[in-house]
Amino acid sequence: MPTRLESNRPLRVAIIGAGPGGLVLAQLLRDDPGFEVTVYERGEAEGDETSSLTGYRILITPELLDSLRKHLPADVQMLLEKAIGVSQKNGNRLGMMDTMCRLICRVDLAGMRSLCSVSRWKLRKALLSGSREFVKFGRVFTSYEVDGSKGVKVSFSDGESIHCDLLVGADGAGSRVRKQLLPDSSRSSTGVTTIYFKAPYTPETEAMIPWASGIMAMAPRRSMVVAYYKNPAKPYGPYDLNNIDPEDSFLMVGMGCYTNEFFNQDKHPDELTPEELKDECLNRARGWHPLLQALIAITVPNSVFVSHIKTQDPIEPWKTGQVTILGDAAHSMTPFLGQGATNAIVDAMTLAEKLKWTEEKEKETITAGVREYESSMLKRGNAAVKNSLYALDLTFAWGNTPWRAWFRNLALSFWDILTPHPANLVEPFPVSYSESNKKGN
Ligand SMILES: Cc1cc2nc3c(=O)[nH]c(=O)nc-3n(C[C@H](O)[C@H](O)[C@H](O)COP(=O)(O)OP(=O)(O)OC[C@H]3O[C@@H](n4cnc5c(N)ncnc54)[C@H](O)[C@@H]3O)c2cc1C
Repeated sequence: MPTRLESNRPLRVAIIGAGPGGLVLAQLLRDDPGFEVTVYERGEAEGDETSSLTGYRILITPELLDSLRKHLPADVQMLLEKAIGVSQKNGNRLGMMDTMCRLICRVDLAGMRSLCSVSRWKLRKALLSGSREFVKFGRVFTSYEVDGSKGVKVSFSDGESIHCDLLVGADGAGSRVRKQLLPDSSRSSTGVTTIYFKAPYTPETEAMIPWASGIMAMAPRRSMVVAYYKNPAKPYGPYDLNNIDPEDSFLMVGMGCYTNEFFNQDKHPDELTPEELKDECLNRARGWHPLLQALIAITVPNSVFVSHIKTQDPIEPWKTGQVTILGDAAHSMTPFLGQGATNAIVDAMTLAEKLKWTEEKEKETITAGVREYESSMLKRGNAAVKNSLYALDLTFAWGNTPWRAWFRNLALSFWDILTPHPANLVEPFPVSYSESNKKGN
Protein backbone atom coordinates (compact mmCIF):
# COMPACT_ATOMS: atom_id res chain seq x y z
CA MET A 1 0.00 0.00 0.00
CA PRO A 2 1.48 3.42 -0.88
CA THR A 3 2.47 5.78 1.91
CA ARG A 4 1.27 9.34 1.71
CA LEU A 5 4.84 10.51 0.93
CA GLU A 6 5.36 8.02 -1.91
CA SER A 7 2.11 8.68 -3.71
CA ASN A 8 1.88 12.43 -3.07
CA ARG A 9 -1.80 12.36 -3.96
CA PRO A 10 -5.00 11.81 -2.02
CA LEU A 11 -5.61 8.24 -0.91
CA ARG A 12 -8.39 6.79 -3.05
CA VAL A 13 -10.90 5.09 -0.74
CA ALA A 14 -13.73 3.08 -2.37
CA ILE A 15 -16.57 2.06 -0.05
CA ILE A 16 -19.10 -0.59 -1.05
CA GLY A 17 -22.48 0.06 0.60
CA ALA A 18 -24.33 3.21 1.70
CA GLY A 19 -25.64 1.89 5.03
CA PRO A 20 -24.90 3.76 8.26
CA GLY A 21 -21.33 2.36 8.38
CA GLY A 22 -20.30 3.24 4.81
CA LEU A 23 -21.91 6.68 4.89
CA VAL A 24 -20.42 7.72 8.24
CA LEU A 25 -16.96 6.76 6.97
CA ALA A 26 -17.49 8.71 3.74
CA GLN A 27 -18.77 11.80 5.57
CA LEU A 28 -15.79 11.76 7.94
CA LEU A 29 -13.31 11.67 5.04
CA ARG A 30 -15.15 13.77 2.45
CA ASP A 31 -13.70 17.19 3.30
CA ASP A 32 -10.17 15.99 4.01
CA PRO A 33 -7.83 16.78 1.11
CA GLY A 34 -5.79 13.69 1.99
CA PHE A 35 -8.61 11.44 0.75
CA GLU A 36 -10.68 10.93 -2.37
CA VAL A 37 -13.70 8.94 -1.21
CA THR A 38 -16.43 7.30 -3.28
CA VAL A 39 -19.33 5.11 -2.08
CA TYR A 40 -20.85 2.55 -4.46
CA GLU A 41 -24.40 1.52 -3.53
CA ARG A 42 -26.53 -1.06 -5.35
CA GLY A 43 -29.82 0.60 -4.31
CA GLU A 44 -31.30 3.83 -5.55
CA ALA A 45 -31.05 7.26 -3.91
CA GLU A 46 -34.70 7.29 -2.86
CA GLY A 47 -34.31 4.05 -0.89
CA ASP A 48 -37.17 1.68 -0.31
CA GLU A 49 -39.75 3.55 1.71
CA THR A 50 -42.25 0.79 2.03
CA SER A 51 -40.65 -2.44 3.04
CA SER A 52 -37.11 -2.09 4.25
CA LEU A 53 -35.94 -1.53 7.78
CA THR A 54 -34.64 1.87 6.66
CA GLY A 55 -37.78 3.16 8.34
CA TYR A 56 -37.20 1.70 11.82
CA ARG A 57 -35.13 3.19 14.59
CA ILE A 58 -31.74 2.56 16.19
CA LEU A 59 -30.59 3.18 19.74
CA ILE A 60 -27.43 5.25 20.12
CA THR A 61 -25.55 6.22 23.28
CA PRO A 62 -25.33 9.96 24.03
CA GLU A 63 -21.52 9.65 23.95
CA LEU A 64 -21.57 8.29 20.39
CA LEU A 65 -24.01 11.01 19.35
CA ASP A 66 -21.71 13.67 20.82
CA SER A 67 -18.78 12.18 18.97
CA LEU A 68 -20.77 12.26 15.70
CA ARG A 69 -21.76 15.87 16.41
CA LYS A 70 -18.11 16.75 16.89
CA HIS A 71 -16.73 15.08 13.78
CA LEU A 72 -19.41 15.15 11.07
CA PRO A 73 -19.66 18.10 8.63
CA ALA A 74 -22.00 20.90 9.80
CA ASP A 75 -24.75 20.17 7.22
CA VAL A 76 -24.94 16.53 8.36
CA GLN A 77 -24.93 17.51 12.04
CA MET A 78 -27.91 19.79 11.53
CA LEU A 79 -29.98 16.99 9.98
CA LEU A 80 -28.75 14.48 12.55
CA GLU A 81 -30.34 16.57 15.32
CA LYS A 82 -33.68 16.23 13.54
CA ALA A 83 -33.34 12.43 13.47
CA ILE A 84 -33.20 12.14 17.27
CA GLY A 85 -36.54 11.09 18.69
CA VAL A 86 -38.28 12.33 21.82
CA SER A 87 -37.72 10.04 24.81
CA GLN A 88 -40.37 9.22 27.37
CA LYS A 89 -40.20 11.07 30.68
CA ASN A 90 -38.14 8.41 32.43
CA GLY A 91 -35.91 7.62 29.47
CA ASN A 92 -35.41 4.45 27.49
CA ARG A 93 -36.14 1.34 29.58
CA LEU A 94 -37.13 -2.21 28.85
CA GLY A 95 -39.48 -4.29 30.94
CA MET A 96 -39.42 -8.05 30.52
CA MET A 97 -42.79 -9.59 31.20
CA ASP A 98 -44.80 -12.71 30.60
CA THR A 99 -47.65 -12.84 28.14
CA MET A 100 -50.17 -11.85 30.82
CA CYS A 101 -48.21 -8.60 31.32
CA ARG A 102 -46.78 -9.69 34.68
CA LEU A 103 -43.43 -8.06 35.29
CA ILE A 104 -40.43 -10.42 35.27
CA CYS A 105 -37.57 -7.93 35.40
CA ARG A 106 -36.65 -4.36 34.57
CA VAL A 107 -33.69 -3.17 32.50
CA ASP A 108 -33.50 0.43 33.65
CA LEU A 109 -29.95 1.32 34.64
CA ALA A 110 -28.64 4.76 33.73
CA GLY A 111 -26.75 3.51 30.63
CA MET A 112 -29.99 2.05 29.25
CA ARG A 113 -32.18 5.03 30.15
CA SER A 114 -29.93 7.54 28.43
CA LEU A 115 -29.98 5.76 25.03
CA CYS A 116 -31.35 7.96 22.23
CA SER A 117 -33.83 6.65 19.73
CA VAL A 118 -32.74 7.73 16.23
CA SER A 119 -34.85 7.31 13.10
CA ARG A 120 -32.97 5.15 10.60
CA TRP A 121 -34.73 6.89 7.76
CA LYS A 122 -33.80 10.38 8.93
CA LEU A 123 -30.28 9.27 9.84
CA ARG A 124 -29.87 7.99 6.29
CA LYS A 125 -31.11 11.31 4.93
CA ALA A 126 -28.67 13.19 7.17
CA LEU A 127 -25.77 11.00 6.09
CA LEU A 128 -26.66 11.52 2.43
CA SER A 129 -26.36 15.30 2.82
CA GLY A 130 -23.91 16.68 0.26
CA SER A 131 -23.29 13.16 -1.02
CA ARG A 132 -24.09 13.82 -4.68
CA GLU A 133 -20.36 14.23 -5.18
CA PHE A 134 -19.30 10.96 -3.61
CA VAL A 135 -22.15 8.40 -3.61
CA LYS A 136 -22.81 6.46 -6.80
CA PHE A 137 -26.19 4.69 -6.69
CA GLY A 138 -27.20 1.69 -8.77
CA ARG A 139 -23.67 0.21 -8.75
CA VAL A 140 -23.53 -3.47 -7.76
CA PHE A 141 -20.08 -4.60 -6.61
CA THR A 142 -19.12 -8.04 -7.97
CA SER A 143 -15.41 -8.65 -7.23
CA TYR A 144 -12.01 -7.10 -6.67
CA GLU A 145 -8.45 -7.83 -7.69
CA VAL A 146 -5.34 -6.50 -5.96
CA ASP A 147 -3.52 -5.05 -8.91
CA GLY A 148 0.11 -4.34 -7.82
CA SER A 149 1.15 -0.73 -8.32
CA LYS A 150 -2.29 0.35 -9.61
CA GLY A 151 -3.95 -0.53 -6.26
CA VAL A 152 -7.19 -2.48 -6.10
CA LYS A 153 -9.30 -3.05 -9.22
CA VAL A 154 -12.99 -3.04 -8.22
CA SER A 155 -15.53 -4.51 -10.66
CA PHE A 156 -19.28 -3.91 -10.93
CA SER A 157 -22.15 -5.84 -12.48
CA ASP A 158 -22.45 -3.36 -15.37
CA GLY A 159 -18.99 -4.45 -16.56
CA GLU A 160 -17.34 -1.22 -15.40
CA SER A 161 -14.37 -1.13 -13.01
CA ILE A 162 -12.42 1.46 -11.01
CA HIS A 163 -9.11 1.53 -9.14
CA CYS A 164 -8.58 2.54 -5.53
CA ASP A 165 -5.89 2.38 -2.84
CA LEU A 166 -8.19 1.05 -0.11
CA LEU A 167 -11.40 -0.92 -0.63
CA VAL A 168 -13.83 -0.95 2.30
CA GLY A 169 -16.64 -3.52 2.30
CA ALA A 170 -19.51 -1.87 4.17
CA ASP A 171 -21.96 -4.00 2.21
CA GLY A 172 -23.93 -5.50 5.06
CA ALA A 173 -24.49 -9.00 6.40
CA GLY A 174 -24.34 -10.79 3.02
CA SER A 175 -21.14 -8.91 2.09
CA ARG A 176 -19.58 -9.97 -1.19
CA VAL A 177 -16.38 -8.19 -0.18
CA ARG A 178 -16.15 -10.39 2.95
CA LYS A 179 -16.89 -13.52 0.93
CA GLN A 180 -13.90 -12.80 -1.33
CA LEU A 181 -11.60 -11.54 1.43
CA LEU A 182 -12.43 -14.34 3.90
CA PRO A 183 -13.88 -17.22 1.87
CA ASP A 184 -14.02 -19.48 4.95
CA SER A 185 -16.12 -17.05 7.00
CA SER A 186 -19.68 -18.15 7.61
CA ARG A 187 -22.95 -17.03 9.16
CA SER A 188 -25.25 -19.36 11.10
CA SER A 189 -28.99 -19.35 11.12
CA THR A 190 -30.52 -19.04 14.60
CA GLY A 191 -33.70 -20.73 13.32
CA VAL A 192 -35.72 -17.72 14.53
CA THR A 193 -37.79 -15.41 12.33
CA THR A 194 -39.13 -12.08 13.53
CA ILE A 195 -42.05 -10.23 11.98
CA TYR A 196 -41.98 -6.46 12.56
CA PHE A 197 -44.90 -4.06 12.10
CA LYS A 198 -45.44 -0.37 12.72
CA ALA A 199 -48.55 1.19 14.24
CA PRO A 200 -49.59 4.87 14.25
CA TYR A 201 -48.31 6.92 17.18
CA THR A 202 -51.14 8.98 18.68
CA PRO A 203 -51.77 10.15 22.27
CA GLU A 204 -54.00 7.07 22.65
CA THR A 205 -51.51 4.52 21.27
CA GLU A 206 -48.66 6.21 23.13
CA ALA A 207 -50.53 5.46 26.35
CA MET A 208 -50.70 1.80 25.29
CA ILE A 209 -46.90 1.35 25.30
CA PRO A 210 -46.31 -1.09 28.10
CA TRP A 211 -44.29 0.46 30.89
CA ALA A 212 -44.28 3.72 28.91
CA SER A 213 -41.03 2.85 27.13
CA GLY A 214 -41.21 -0.67 25.76
CA ILE A 215 -41.19 -4.32 26.67
CA MET A 216 -40.10 -7.77 25.70
CA ALA A 217 -42.89 -10.28 26.37
CA MET A 218 -41.55 -13.80 26.69
CA ALA A 219 -43.54 -16.98 26.14
CA PRO A 220 -42.18 -20.47 25.63
CA ARG A 221 -40.70 -20.47 22.07
CA ARG A 222 -42.15 -17.03 21.28
CA SER A 223 -41.35 -13.38 21.93
CA MET A 224 -42.93 -10.00 21.40
CA VAL A 225 -41.13 -6.67 21.52
CA VAL A 226 -42.78 -3.24 21.68
CA ALA A 227 -40.76 -0.07 21.06
CA TYR A 228 -41.36 3.38 19.57
CA TYR A 229 -39.90 6.34 17.70
CA LYS A 230 -41.41 9.78 18.40
CA ASN A 231 -40.63 12.42 15.78
CA PRO A 232 -40.00 15.74 17.59
CA ALA A 233 -41.31 17.78 14.63
CA LYS A 234 -44.55 15.82 14.19
CA PRO A 235 -45.15 13.61 17.23
CA TYR A 236 -48.68 12.41 16.52
CA GLY A 237 -49.26 12.12 12.79
CA PRO A 238 -51.66 12.66 10.98
CA TYR A 239 -51.46 9.24 9.34
CA ASP A 240 -52.41 7.57 6.14
CA LEU A 241 -53.66 4.40 7.79
CA ASN A 242 -52.60 2.18 4.89
CA ASN A 243 -48.99 3.33 4.80
CA ILE A 244 -46.92 4.83 7.58
CA ASP A 245 -44.57 7.45 6.16
CA PRO A 246 -40.94 6.70 7.12
CA GLU A 247 -40.68 10.26 8.52
CA ASP A 248 -43.52 9.66 11.00
CA SER A 249 -43.50 8.60 14.63
CA PHE A 250 -44.46 4.96 15.12
CA LEU A 251 -44.97 2.14 17.56
CA MET A 252 -43.00 -0.95 16.60
CA VAL A 253 -44.25 -4.45 17.34
CA GLY A 254 -41.92 -7.39 16.66
CA MET A 255 -43.07 -11.02 17.00
CA GLY A 256 -40.41 -13.74 17.07
CA CYS A 257 -40.75 -17.51 16.81
CA TYR A 258 -38.94 -20.49 15.28
CA THR A 259 -39.24 -20.31 11.52
CA ASN A 260 -40.64 -23.85 11.27
CA GLU A 261 -43.28 -23.18 13.93
CA PHE A 262 -45.38 -20.59 12.12
CA PHE A 263 -49.10 -21.26 12.64
CA ASN A 264 -49.63 -20.79 8.95
CA GLN A 265 -47.91 -23.80 7.37
CA ASP A 266 -49.57 -23.38 3.97
CA LYS A 267 -46.68 -21.30 2.63
CA HIS A 268 -43.10 -20.38 3.49
CA PRO A 269 -43.03 -17.25 5.71
CA ASP A 270 -41.49 -15.27 2.81
CA GLU A 271 -44.57 -16.01 0.69
CA LEU A 272 -47.13 -14.82 3.23
CA THR A 273 -48.93 -11.56 2.41
CA PRO A 274 -48.77 -8.65 4.89
CA GLU A 275 -52.34 -9.46 5.99
CA GLU A 276 -51.47 -13.15 6.48
CA LEU A 277 -48.42 -12.14 8.51
CA LYS A 278 -50.59 -9.96 10.73
CA ASP A 279 -53.06 -12.84 11.19
CA GLU A 280 -50.11 -15.07 12.07
CA CYS A 281 -49.13 -12.64 14.86
CA LEU A 282 -52.72 -12.34 16.12
CA ASN A 283 -53.02 -16.14 16.18
CA ARG A 284 -49.83 -16.47 18.19
CA ALA A 285 -51.09 -13.99 20.76
CA ARG A 286 -54.43 -15.75 21.36
CA GLY A 287 -55.00 -16.01 25.12
CA TRP A 288 -52.34 -13.37 25.85
CA HIS A 289 -53.13 -10.16 27.77
CA PRO A 290 -55.67 -8.03 25.81
CA LEU A 291 -53.21 -5.13 25.72
CA LEU A 292 -50.70 -7.21 23.73
CA GLN A 293 -53.41 -8.41 21.37
CA ALA A 294 -54.61 -4.83 20.92
CA LEU A 295 -51.10 -3.64 20.08
CA ILE A 296 -50.89 -6.21 17.28
CA ALA A 297 -54.40 -5.37 16.10
CA ILE A 298 -53.53 -1.68 15.50
CA THR A 299 -50.46 -2.40 13.33
CA VAL A 300 -50.45 -1.47 9.65
CA PRO A 301 -49.95 -4.56 7.41
CA ASN A 302 -48.05 -2.63 4.72
CA SER A 303 -45.33 -1.70 7.20
CA VAL A 304 -44.29 -5.34 7.66
CA PHE A 305 -40.66 -6.42 7.63
CA VAL A 306 -39.66 -10.09 8.03
CA SER A 307 -36.20 -10.98 9.31
CA HIS A 308 -34.74 -14.52 9.37
CA ILE A 309 -32.16 -14.01 12.05
CA LYS A 310 -28.59 -15.08 11.32
CA THR A 311 -25.40 -14.43 13.23
CA GLN A 312 -21.79 -14.11 12.08
CA ASP A 313 -19.50 -16.94 13.19
CA PRO A 314 -16.39 -15.49 14.88
CA ILE A 315 -13.88 -14.07 12.43
CA GLU A 316 -10.17 -14.58 13.12
CA PRO A 317 -7.69 -11.79 12.33
CA TRP A 318 -6.41 -11.89 8.73
CA LYS A 319 -3.32 -10.42 7.06
CA THR A 320 -3.98 -6.71 6.61
CA GLY A 321 -3.88 -5.49 3.04
CA GLN A 322 -5.68 -3.02 0.81
CA VAL A 323 -9.14 -4.48 1.42
CA THR A 324 -11.03 -4.31 4.70
CA ILE A 325 -14.59 -4.62 6.01
CA LEU A 326 -16.80 -2.86 8.53
CA GLY A 327 -20.20 -3.05 10.20
CA ASP A 328 -22.53 -5.95 9.43
CA ALA A 329 -20.10 -7.13 6.74
CA ALA A 330 -17.74 -8.11 9.58
CA HIS A 331 -20.05 -8.81 12.51
CA SER A 332 -23.74 -9.15 11.72
CA MET A 333 -25.58 -9.98 14.92
CA THR A 334 -29.07 -10.75 16.18
CA PRO A 335 -31.18 -7.61 16.73
CA PHE A 336 -31.92 -8.62 20.33
CA LEU A 337 -29.61 -6.00 21.87
CA GLY A 338 -30.08 -3.36 19.17
CA GLN A 339 -26.31 -3.02 18.75
CA GLY A 340 -25.68 -3.58 15.01
CA ALA A 341 -25.90 -0.05 13.65
CA THR A 342 -24.05 1.40 16.62
CA ASN A 343 -21.18 -0.98 16.00
CA ALA A 344 -21.13 -0.13 12.28
CA ILE A 345 -20.90 3.58 13.16
CA VAL A 346 -18.14 3.00 15.73
CA ASP A 347 -16.20 0.96 13.14
CA ALA A 348 -16.48 3.80 10.62
CA MET A 349 -15.33 6.37 13.18
CA THR A 350 -12.39 4.20 14.26
CA LEU A 351 -11.27 3.55 10.68
CA ALA A 352 -11.54 7.26 9.77
CA GLU A 353 -9.55 8.18 12.85
CA LYS A 354 -6.80 5.63 12.09
CA LEU A 355 -6.57 6.70 8.45
CA LYS A 356 -6.27 10.35 9.45
CA TRP A 357 -3.69 9.42 12.06
CA THR A 358 -1.52 7.77 9.42
CA GLU A 359 -1.95 10.87 7.33
CA GLU A 360 -0.56 13.04 10.08
CA LYS A 361 2.35 10.70 10.73
CA GLU A 362 3.55 10.83 7.18
CA LYS A 363 5.99 7.95 7.35
CA GLU A 364 3.52 5.50 8.76
CA THR A 365 1.94 3.39 6.11
CA ILE A 366 -1.82 3.25 5.77
CA THR A 367 -1.56 -0.47 6.45
CA ALA A 368 -0.51 0.20 10.05
CA GLY A 369 -3.66 2.26 10.62
CA VAL A 370 -5.90 -0.31 8.96
CA ARG A 371 -4.30 -3.08 11.03
CA GLU A 372 -5.04 -1.20 14.25
CA TYR A 373 -8.60 -0.59 13.09
CA GLU A 374 -9.12 -4.28 12.25
CA SER A 375 -7.77 -5.40 15.59
CA SER A 376 -10.11 -3.17 17.63
CA MET A 377 -13.08 -3.75 15.28
CA LEU A 378 -12.79 -7.55 15.51
CA LYS A 379 -12.49 -7.51 19.29
CA ARG A 380 -15.51 -5.25 19.75
CA GLY A 381 -17.55 -6.75 16.91
CA ASN A 382 -17.03 -10.40 17.92
CA ALA A 383 -18.00 -9.53 21.52
CA ALA A 384 -21.17 -7.75 20.36
CA VAL A 385 -22.12 -10.75 18.19
CA LYS A 386 -21.68 -13.06 21.18
CA ASN A 387 -23.71 -10.88 23.54
CA SER A 388 -26.51 -10.43 21.00
CA LEU A 389 -26.68 -14.19 20.50
CA TYR A 390 -26.80 -14.64 24.26
CA ALA A 391 -29.79 -12.25 24.38
CA LEU A 392 -31.59 -14.30 21.71
CA ASP A 393 -30.81 -17.53 23.57
CA LEU A 394 -32.20 -16.05 26.78
CA THR A 395 -35.49 -15.55 24.98
CA PHE A 396 -35.57 -18.75 22.91
CA ALA A 397 -33.14 -21.54 23.90
CA TRP A 398 -33.70 -20.88 27.61
CA GLY A 399 -37.45 -20.79 27.14
CA ASN A 400 -37.85 -23.80 24.87
CA THR A 401 -40.30 -25.62 27.11
CA PRO A 402 -42.85 -24.27 29.61
CA TRP A 403 -40.68 -25.54 32.49
CA ARG A 404 -37.48 -24.01 31.18
CA ALA A 405 -39.32 -20.74 30.58
CA TRP A 406 -40.70 -20.87 34.13
CA PHE A 407 -37.22 -21.36 35.63
CA ARG A 408 -35.74 -18.68 33.40
CA ASN A 409 -38.41 -16.21 34.45
CA LEU A 410 -37.85 -17.09 38.10
CA ALA A 411 -34.09 -16.51 37.72
CA LEU A 412 -34.73 -13.18 36.01
CA SER A 413 -37.15 -12.17 38.80
CA PHE A 414 -34.40 -12.81 41.38
CA TRP A 415 -31.99 -10.81 39.25
CA ASP A 416 -34.53 -7.96 39.25
CA ILE A 417 -34.74 -8.06 43.04
CA LEU A 418 -30.96 -8.07 43.45
CA THR A 419 -30.35 -5.30 40.89
CA PRO A 420 -30.54 -1.71 42.10
CA HIS A 421 -33.24 0.30 40.31
CA PRO A 422 -33.44 4.07 40.15
CA ALA A 423 -35.48 5.56 42.96
CA ASN A 424 -38.53 7.71 42.17
CA LEU A 425 -39.21 6.03 38.85
CA VAL A 426 -42.69 4.95 39.73
CA GLU A 427 -44.53 4.02 36.58
CA PRO A 428 -47.68 1.91 36.48
CA PHE A 429 -47.18 -1.55 35.03
CA PRO A 430 -48.02 -2.57 32.37
CA VAL A 431 -49.63 0.72 31.23
CA SER A 432 -50.84 4.07 32.46
CA TYR A 433 -53.77 4.01 30.01
CA SER A 434 -56.58 3.43 32.49
CA GLU A 435 -55.10 6.00 34.89
CA SER A 436 -54.85 8.66 32.18
CA ASN A 437 -58.43 7.91 31.17
CA LYS A 438 -59.60 8.34 34.72
CA LYS A 439 -57.84 11.70 34.93
CA GLY A 440 -59.60 12.77 31.74
CA ASN A 441 -63.05 11.90 33.12
C1 LIG B 1 -35.30 -5.49 12.29
C2 LIG B 1 -33.97 -4.94 12.66
C3 LIG B 1 -33.89 -4.05 13.71
C4 LIG B 1 -32.66 -3.51 14.07
N1 LIG B 1 -32.59 -2.64 15.11
C5 LIG B 1 -31.40 -2.10 15.44
C6 LIG B 1 -31.28 -1.17 16.54
O1 LIG B 1 -32.24 -0.86 17.24
N2 LIG B 1 -30.06 -0.66 16.83
C7 LIG B 1 -28.96 -0.99 16.10
O2 LIG B 1 -27.86 -0.49 16.40
N3 LIG B 1 -29.03 -1.87 15.05
C8 LIG B 1 -30.21 -2.42 14.72
N4 LIG B 1 -30.30 -3.31 13.68
C9 LIG B 1 -29.10 -3.67 12.94
C10 LIG B 1 -28.70 -2.61 11.95
O3 LIG B 1 -29.78 -2.33 11.08
C11 LIG B 1 -27.49 -3.06 11.14
O4 LIG B 1 -26.53 -3.59 12.03
C12 LIG B 1 -26.85 -1.88 10.38
O5 LIG B 1 -27.74 -1.42 9.39
C13 LIG B 1 -25.53 -2.29 9.75
O6 LIG B 1 -25.04 -1.19 9.02
P1 LIG B 1 -24.03 -1.43 7.82
O7 LIG B 1 -23.72 -0.07 7.28
O8 LIG B 1 -22.90 -2.27 8.26
O9 LIG B 1 -24.81 -2.31 6.76
P2 LIG B 1 -26.24 -2.11 6.05
O10 LIG B 1 -27.06 -1.14 6.78
O11 LIG B 1 -26.77 -3.47 5.84
O12 LIG B 1 -25.87 -1.46 4.65
C14 LIG B 1 -25.22 -2.19 3.64
C15 LIG B 1 -25.45 -1.48 2.33
O13 LIG B 1 -24.66 -2.14 1.33
C16 LIG B 1 -25.42 -2.25 0.14
N5 LIG B 1 -24.88 -3.38 -0.63
C17 LIG B 1 -24.94 -4.69 -0.31
N6 LIG B 1 -24.34 -5.43 -1.25
C18 LIG B 1 -23.90 -4.57 -2.20
C19 LIG B 1 -23.20 -4.74 -3.43
N7 LIG B 1 -22.83 -5.96 -3.87
N8 LIG B 1 -22.89 -3.64 -4.16
C20 LIG B 1 -23.26 -2.40 -3.72
N9 LIG B 1 -23.94 -2.19 -2.57
C21 LIG B 1 -24.24 -3.26 -1.81
C22 LIG B 1 -26.84 -2.45 0.64
O14 LIG B 1 -27.79 -2.10 -0.34
C23 LIG B 1 -26.88 -1.54 1.85
O15 LIG B 1 -27.31 -0.23 1.52
C24 LIG B 1 -31.51 -3.88 13.33
C25 LIG B 1 -31.59 -4.78 12.27
C26 LIG B 1 -32.82 -5.33 11.95
C27 LIG B 1 -32.89 -6.32 10.83
